[in-house]
Amino acid sequence: MDRSSRHGTIPASSSAPRVVDVLVPVAIDHAYSYRVPRGMEVRPGEVVTVPLGPREVVAVVWAGNPAPDPRLHNRLKDISGKLDVPPLRDELRTLIDWVANYTLSPRGMVMRMSLRMGEHLGPERVRPGVRLSGEPPRRMTPARRRLLAVLSDGLLRAKSDAAREAGVSAGVVDGLVDEGTLTTEPMPRSPPPPPPDPDFAVPDFSRSQRAAVDAMRALASNGTFHVALLDGVTGSGKTEVYFEAVAETVRRGRQVLILMPEIALTGQFRDRFAARFGERPLEWHSELTPRNRARNWAAIAAGEAQVVVGARSALFLPYADLGLIIIDEEHDQAYKQDEGVRYHARDMAVVRAHVAKIPIILASATPSVESEVNARKGRYQRIALTSRFGGQHLPRIELIDLRREGPSRGRFISPRLAGEIVTAIERREQALLFLNRRGYAPLTLCRGCGHRFACTICDAWLVDHRFRDRLVCHHCGFSMPRPHQCPHCAAEQSLVAVGPGVERLQEEAAALFPDARTMVLSSDLITSIETMRSELNDIAEGRVDIIIGTQLVAKGHHFPRLNLVGVVDADLGLGNGDPRAAERTFQLLNQVIGRTGREQGRGVGYLQTHQPEHPVMKALVAGDREAFYASEIAARERTGYPPFGRLASLIISAGDRPSAESFARQLAAVAPVDERIQVLGPAEAPLALIKGRYRFRLLVKSARGVDLSGYLRDWLASAPKTRGNLKLEVDVDPQSFL
Ligand code: ADP
Ligand code: ZN
Repeated sequence: MDRSSRHGTIPASSSAPRVVDVLVPVAIDHAYSYRVPRGMEVRPGEVVTVPLGPREVVAVVWAGNPAPDPRLHNRLKDISGKLDVPPLRDELRTLIDWVANYTLSPRGMVMRMSLRMGEHLGPERVRPGVRLSGEPPRRMTPARRRLLAVLSDGLLRAKSDAAREAGVSAGVVDGLVDEGTLTTEPMPRSPPPPPPDPDFAVPDFSRSQRAAVDAMRALASNGTFHVALLDGVTGSGKTEVYFEAVAETVRRGRQVLILMPEIALTGQFRDRFAARFGERPLEWHSELTPRNRARNWAAIAAGEAQVVVGARSALFLPYADLGLIIIDEEHDQAYKQDEGVRYHARDMAVVRAHVAKIPIILASATPSVESEVNARKGRYQRIALTSRFGGQHLPRIELIDLRREGPSRGRFISPRLAGEIVTAIERREQALLFLNRRGYAPLTLCRGCGHRFACTICDAWLVDHRFRDRLVCHHCGFSMPRPHQCPHCAAEQSLVAVGPGVERLQEEAAALFPDARTMVLSSDLITSIETMRSELNDIAEGRVDIIIGTQLVAKGHHFPRLNLVGVVDADLGLGNGDPRAAERTFQLLNQVIGRTGREQGRGVGYLQTHQPEHPVMKALVAGDREAFYASEIAARERTGYPPFGRLASLIISAGDRPSAESFARQLAAVAPVDERIQVLGPAEAPLALIKGRYRFRLLVKSARGVDLSGYLRDWLASAPKTRGNLKLEVDVDPQSFL
């Protein structure tokens, strides 16, 4: 049954016009009233087009309006038309309302994530195809010859594909159509994606996996709201295990959503999925072409796509019948969207599962402290995998104390680490040098006068990117050619790079290991998802000896020959004043070291650190996860940080510092008094200037049970309004404190 018809159609009455409230995809919270033209039937959730100012927009009927204000009758506009797509179901509309309310985002902007985007929502456009049929042209050119060679098989091809394959412009194709050499025909509509086969290749599960597999199947076949934390060490087979919940849901004919923090991960994942289910899953992320986006959206809404793997935005898609959600690497901070609608996809996925009354699985080797506490309190069911598949040992971890055995000045790889890498390469194994810093060096200065190169519109040093020969701001993207002269004292050849980035490490690795094949993996060097997939493939197949990478390589990948990871600066994330710094460092290092020894079982991780006695380093070396969580949970409880308390931050920015500061003070002054809530600040943000805007922050801290969103809404309703170029951003449950 189509559940969205529960409210029925909006009844026609003879006298008053029929009016409905329609949510438009712009930054507005409330729905607008529109008249339903005679002869049209609409239901809540229906996707329509409406006039909005001078434009026509795709919008969604949110509710009937049985008693519209009679004074409005003459001013209401008509709905222009209905789109031939399934209505957004109650479940999704409830989620949209919920997320908007919780994050204090305009409802129209949240809803927009479900439509994404209007212009592609119509029926799939028919693509013109061409086929060789007539006489060869009278005048032959090299381009025409290439095109005819491509089409010589007589098959129908999309015009754009034919041009691309032959390396010719669309004009060349059109020319041959005009001459009658080629004929055009519409391309047939693309068929629905083939369904995954739940029984295609069920693996043999090990004894230690079996209990988890049974739990997965049970949870999927119960099909009710339930949160499971699939807590398994790296290499324990979490993916194979949760695939059984996927299989069970597919057998029941319902859809599955698998969220991943990073689309870089979806390449290997697609292949693993295909090995298990015989077909690839449908993908949803920002790199899809508009055409694939439209096609995938339609397949999801029609229920033709059974399994969708995607980035966080896939959470808001209009699934016809979602039956299970899986959040892979649930602790990853990439699940938090930090602009526009600021939402945490993991948390909102739990809300969606609750609204839809379906199970959700959170998978991680290092759960977030929030999820760990929920599991300890019994709110989430813990399903544990405590050993690696195939009896492989977990990697051993050793510390390299940079105070005693560090490299020489200007070098970053310690002698001991270098020695171990030599041994690994001699054994024909791979090594990974991990440094979470893009570029060549984080700072450039003049040896003569001490001048440091900073961004002109951000409070940030420019990062030297030698591969591109530019200095780049990591906050606004500003870049300039690397100068040869100091702009301050005019000295020549006086600029020095301070500190390492991955590009500089590659230079050092090339000097230390001249015969090794190295590859740098860093998000800024990726030109397309396809090239990245092929690079990851080169690594997996052993065509690289030393991988040098940022966090891009830390996650999820399975590189069979990798047995050694050297963390170049294990302290990097610890000192930034973020309440989750220790947790993030623990997770990231655990995850990157977890890439090793996955097939041969003798992985080893070396942590280069200045703080060998830090609790995070000690817990890692001892392999004592419990110790880490125990001390971290105790600290959060003591200080009232999440999940024992709640946080929100208000970021106030303006083109000049005094306006930002004075508005932040006015705002703080009118905060309603509530003894369960503390308002801290305003303080200048750690990143005090971004893109020419000066930033101040207020941090709001409350007890766990408090409706913080409600408090913020009341506060902002009575606060002075932002004027001019003042801007106020609200971040509920902030992950970034910069
Ligand atoms: P995790 O996500 O927990 O790090 P993976 O799911 O990537 O672990 O599994 C690690 C490796 O072990 C993968 O190559 C996977 O295919 C393999 N594996 C896990 N369980 C099984 C199984 N039951 N049968 C065959 N291979 C398995
Ligand atoms: Zn900048």
